[in-house]
Amino acid sequence: MLTHLECARCGLSHDADTVQNLCHECASPLLARYDLTRVGRPTSENSLWRYRDVLPVRDPDPAFSLGEGMTPIVPLPALSRALDAKILMKDESLIPTGSFKARGAAVGVARAKELGVEGIKMPTNGNAGAAWALYAARAGLRSVIAMPDDAPLITREEVEASGAELRIVPGTIADAAKAVADVALFDASTLREPYRIEGKKTMGYEIVEQLGWRVPDVIVYPTGGGVGLIGIHKALHEMRELGWITGPMPRLVAVQSTGCAPIVRAFDEGAAESAFWEDAYTDAFGINVPKPLGDFIILRAIRETGGTALAVDDERIEADRAECARLEGVFLCPEGAATISAVRALRANGWLAADDEVVVLNTGAGIKYPSVNRGPAPEAAPHRRN
Ligand SMILES: *Cc1c(COP(=O)(O)O)cnc(C)c1O
Ligand SMILES: [Zn+2]
Repeated sequence: MLTHLECARCGLSHDADTVQNLCHECASPLLARYDLTRVGRPTSENSLWRYRDVLPVRDPDPAFSLGEGMTPIVPLPALSRALDAKILMKDESLIPTGSFKARGAAVGVARAKELGVEGIKMPTNGNAGAAWALYAARAGLRSVIAMPDDAPLITREEVEASGAELRIVPGTIADAAKAVADVALFDASTLREPYRIEGKKTMGYEIVEQLGWRVPDVIVYPTGGGVGLIGIHKALHEMRELGWITGPMPRLVAVQSTGCAPIVRAFDEGAAESAFWEDAYTDAFGINVPKPLGDFIILRAIRETGGTALAVDDERIEADRAECARLEGVFLCPEGAATISAVRALRANGWLAADDEVVVLNTGAGIKYPSVNRGPAPEAAPHRRN
């Protein structure tokens, strides 16, 4: 049962039954805390709502779910052989709206509605806006979404189809944020509301449950805002406190593109926070985040678990995307392909052992993206800066 919200930086406690954004004291993200003595085993629901006792929605409406969650863990035997590694893929492409943003949106929207919010606003690189706009439509909430003009067309279409108000803005997600600053609706941007993490943390619960209540050695995560990585780490801590898992934590690995790698740079420098990445650009648009608000939480999670952070370039990502389709029949999104490039690099430098069991996240559907060879559609031409 949800008890309160706790600041991830200063620890200040906040009321969980009123609408909250950032910490009142230090403007950092808030984390949902639960009474873990009153948590039952997962229910039989075939969605993330099976973990309802560790979710913030007090009275989930069964009719609201689109079946989000409980995505399969798929072995990649041919790719594992080719890389001399042991790779399992959690496939988030099989989820409503075609990206794992649906997890955060389902839980975030359901909780916002429960708290009486009338509508949401959000800047986005595309997938989050699409997921939140569609779940808002399902919940009967208004939404205003702003995205950069180089966001994939398909995500624009999802937002428009939902009936949301869409604002297209030149520049990056930072410019999109300015474009909704004047809108008087609940700000649901990444980590500015506390419940998106709760939706995304269910990936951690599912990985452990699907492996038979044990953890893998390593989890590799394509990191933009870092919500999923923070969420998985939070889930692991909760499960440990619940006594559902014991022993060492999986080492958490954050993968970024060399075109936008603020977390990697901070990790390498031993810094507690990241610095704004100038002229950020990557084809893996979901991880194009120049200064994540939760950078200090991401870095803490990586270091605490003995993990690491590394950047891979877009050419390598595209090559691994093609190789995975060829060898495994799996058409990854570029962000997902980046996790394969990371495994390749970490095997090459010896950080990963051949018998380390590695779970990689394919965070979205490959078919949402412009094709490998065709390049982006003209209307969605990215601002290439190199
Ligand atoms: C948003 C997104 C990511 C990054 O997720 P964060 O939790 O913000 O780090 C990765 N892949 C895809 C496809 C995304 O849309
Ligand atoms: Zn604080």
